[in-house]
Amino acid sequence: MDPGSHRHERSEKLGRRAAARTPGGVHSNVRLAGPRVYFSHAKGARVFGVDGEDYVDYLLGQGPAFLGHAPDAVLDAVDQASRRGLVFGGQHELEIEASEAVCEALGWPDMVRFGVSGTESVQAALRLARAATGRTRVIRFEGHYHGWLDNVLTQPGENGVWGAASAGQLDSHLEDFIVLPWNDADAVATALERKGDQIAAVLMEPVMVNAGVIEPLPGYLERIRELCTARGVVLIFDEVISGFRFGLSGAAGWFGVTPDLATYGKAMAGGWPVSALAGRAELMERFGTGEVNHSGTFNGSVMAMAATKATLECLRKDPPYDSIEEHGTALIEGIKEIATAHGLPLHVQGFPVAFHVSFGEAEVTDYRSLQQLDLMSYARFAQALVEHGVLVAARGVWYVSASHGREELSLALGRISRAMSEW
Ligand code: PLP
Repeated sequence: MDPGSHRHERSEKLGRRAAARTPGGVHSNVRLAGPRVYFSHAKGARVFGVDGEDYVDYLLGQGPAFLGHAPDAVLDAVDQASRRGLVFGGQHELEIEASEAVCEALGWPDMVRFGVSGTESVQAALRLARAATGRTRVIRFEGHYHGWLDNVLTQPGENGVWGAASAGQLDSHLEDFIVLPWNDADAVATALERKGDQIAAVLMEPVMVNAGVIEPLPGYLERIRELCTARGVVLIFDEVISGFRFGLSGAAGWFGVTPDLATYGKAMAGGWPVSALAGRAELMERFGTGEVNHSGTFNGSVMAMAATKATLECLRKDPPYDSIEEHGTALIEGIKEIATAHGLPLHVQGFPVAFHVSFGEAEVTDYRSLQQLDLMSYARFAQALVEHGVLVAARGVWYVSASHGREELSLALGRISRAMSEW
């Protein structure tokens, strides 16, 4: 059923019921800003609502449904593996196979430790970097997201200083972090010049997907790599979004710059909750000796390992990257043409596999220049797109999956055109 002016009666009823037992009716605060529809099921590039409406999905569950929803190969692997037991609190062969698959796909790391969420793998990376260097401070960047915990969740205050982003979070938790503008290698060079002997790590998304899908300027990642090497600082790429999405070897492979440690998650396991910290043996071995603690009851669970192995097998044997590129490119071109026809000042940037849409005009290279766009109006327009059957995030990031084909493209462009003509 084409959503159009469809009424979400059942969703609204479920929303009221949920709010009685769940704060805000959602289990992640990120979803407070998301569409308040309830979904019944999803397959491939399509998601279906409980009121009978369907959506062409460019949200992909905030990224994980990279193969498309409910991929048969992953579901079969999880089903078969889980029938032999769900969790052992001990070792099993699939862990080894998944570890080998991750290291071989990425190409550069020697070792990997699995976790359940990107948030916790980032924490493991920070602890490891501090242990290895004996230093405490970390350089990070404006607009990059590294999870919801006290020491990494941050937002700009009225004075432009990045501080706590949540009530109950103390500014003191952020004291060891130096927040710099991204894509400015001189800013990092100066900080390292002044405080290099205190800096354990530089932590960044190698493509700033979380704010604007901004790519690194030519030479930026290379220069940061050189600066870190020269100062004995651990370079951590947070590839929770970019990993396996920007090709099998992630953004590190795409840009040809190798970090010391990197975190992975979303696209790695076909939608299954699993994350990974990968890195050079010299660093990672510190977990193995017990010097650095990294633990978790559900780490390396049978289902997570089966899903990881099956997903990486799919990506290796039948790489979807060309078809994603084709769909994403046509989608971006189509959206731009429709916007021009309707006289809407749409701003689109990024990559076919993940791009950012907003209103306005600006040259966007970092978080500050991103703020010149009309992000608020776009967030309202994103809601209109959802009403018309195109599922997208209010923050402007669109993801394309292996399952998006021609049918979804023409359906989506028709719906986008209707949404724009009514805007
Ligand atoms: N790092 C990045 C770059 C992310 O985008 C996210 C989540 O969106 C995280 C870390 C946190 O991952 P999770 O939500 O699995 O805890």
